[in-house]
Amino acid sequence: MTTTEDRATEQAQMNTLTGQMIIAGTFVTGQGDTVHGLDPATGDVLEPGYSYGSDSDVDAACAAAAAAFDRYRSTTSTVRAEFLEAIAENIESLGDALVDRACSESGLPRPRIAGEVGRTAGQLRLFAGVLRDGGWNGARIDPAQPDRTPLPRADIRQRKIPLGPVAVFGASNFPLAFSVAGGDTASALAAGCPVVVKAHDAHPGTSELVGRAITEAIARTGMPAGTFSLLYGSGPILGTRLVTDPRIKAVGFTGSRSGGTALVAAAAARPEPIPVYAEMSSVNPVFLMESALRNRGTDLGQAFVGSLTMGAGQFCTNPGLVIAVDGPALDDFVRSASDAIAASAPAPMLTPGIARSYADGVEAFSTAATAEAKAPTTDRPNTCGAAVFSTDADTFLASEVLQEEVFGSASLVVKCVDANQVRAVAARLEGQLTATVHCDDDDLEAAGELMSVLELKAGRILFNGWPTGVEVGHAMVHGGPYPATSDSRTTSVGSLAIERFLRPVAYQDVPPALLPSAIADGNPDQLWRRIDGRLVQD
Ligand code: NAP
Repeated sequence: MTTTEDRATEQAQMNTLTGQMIIAGTFVTGQGDTVHGLDPATGDVLEPGYSYGSDSDVDAACAAAAAAFDRYRSTTSTVRAEFLEAIAENIESLGDALVDRACSESGLPRPRIAGEVGRTAGQLRLFAGVLRDGGWNGARIDPAQPDRTPLPRADIRQRKIPLGPVAVFGASNFPLAFSVAGGDTASALAAGCPVVVKAHDAHPGTSELVGRAITEAIARTGMPAGTFSLLYGSGPILGTRLVTDPRIKAVGFTGSRSGGTALVAAAAARPEPIPVYAEMSSVNPVFLMESALRNRGTDLGQAFVGSLTMGAGQFCTNPGLVIAVDGPALDDFVRSASDAIAASAPAPMLTPGIARSYADGVEAFSTAATAEAKAPTTDRPNTCGAAVFSTDADTFLASEVLQEEVFGSASLVVKCVDANQVRAVAARLEGQLTATVHCDDDDLEAAGELMSVLELKAGRILFNGWPTGVEVGHAMVHGGPYPATSDSRTTSVGSLAIERFLRPVAYQDVPPALLPSAIADGNPDQLWRRIDGRLVQD
């Protein structure tokens, strides 16, 4: 039985940073280059150092994941739900140790990180609920029809099974909710897939703390040790090695277009290609319809800057593009946004590299478009000062530079001659995570026409709101056509994300004694199942 002292000792161990990787429950010191966390707001180097792992560490983690797979996938939904809940509980119990470290490593403000702790735990509990509900099994039964003519029908049953070990790349911009125990890991573990995480160098200590929380939950709930490993290393070297290991069966990634497409190419070139679910690049266009702009252009300008500057603009759903018909109402919007930008404070970015990329992106926009407003400059390191540019539709459509994502609080207003040109610009956009429409009653007809274009471009269409802030639920889609993601058929946020790591199997005329319980006679798991096409709980 676990005593109060045992629990206190376990908690102290979970809160202690060692600079080590975790391979199937064993703490391993890497032998390669050493990376330190860096406080981007101060430039302070944070201890301890994390030495990169080698090929043999990748091999050990993948071997352990493969060895764990059969036992882990055979656990019941309830047992896996309890495991996910134990991870959530452990992450919450890290308390200030986790919040302090994540704030230092990311430069993100405390309320944002505290919110991310809640979101991370909430996602794990969401998937625990999905497991208990059982719908993820996708159970279908077409009973045999021995008397059917001209040919009898066999007994055919379908359920979903996990793909196998999954490699997860932690994202820099969500050090908790899209990192070691983030949405990719939670959905893969829920599906029954062991996970090997490549930590992001931007938050190595946060990664270790969360890795320890998962490792303790594995021990406490009796999961096989190889269910989880955490590796540190370079993306192109260790990350590619991980993705090309034959025991890895799928990949979850959030980051740059170049990183995502490199991993897609590496996975496709394997003797056995595997799916890569990469969420990469989106400028999240916002369409201001004419009546809305006339009625509330000034308010929209202020609210737009609120969304643009949130978290120094380091959201994949940041509104990087505004499209509207040119005229006095759009001038009001731009004036109001410019005033709000002039009053905004520069904020630290996640890493010096991301701050440099932002500065380069703003510089590139400066040469290709008209600068409308820039935030005051500062001497503080690694900061992002918001900026808004404008251009006309023809210039925008002819410019690769202006169509690219600038990660941070920079946005471009595209001025169109009329509503037809607005739709023409929408039709030429690349795939997006989100598309936003601001409209009033008088705009409904034009907004409806625009929506049928936007459906083909974006994973989520929202009206009279702002794209930053992604609700984690059952109906959410955080996905979209390339380059928003590498696979537009799914989502990386919300309960549907579990589908990425499952595949259907049909069981034809399998002896009843061998049928998995999800599709067994008598419905022992009491699932909703599609029997002969009808959803019933029989
Ligand atoms: P990143 O450079 O794509 O890195 C993400 C992860 O992928 C890291 O672990 C990285 O490892 C690895 N990686 C990168 N290139 C790789 C390659 N060629 N092969 C294998 N692995 C690779 O993203 P980031 O560091 O988070 O930010 C850089 C830029 O990405 C930002 O400036 C922004 O443009 C974009 N970004 C976009 C989003 C979004 O949601 N759309 C989110 C975050 C960042 P290493 O660190 O070792 O390279």
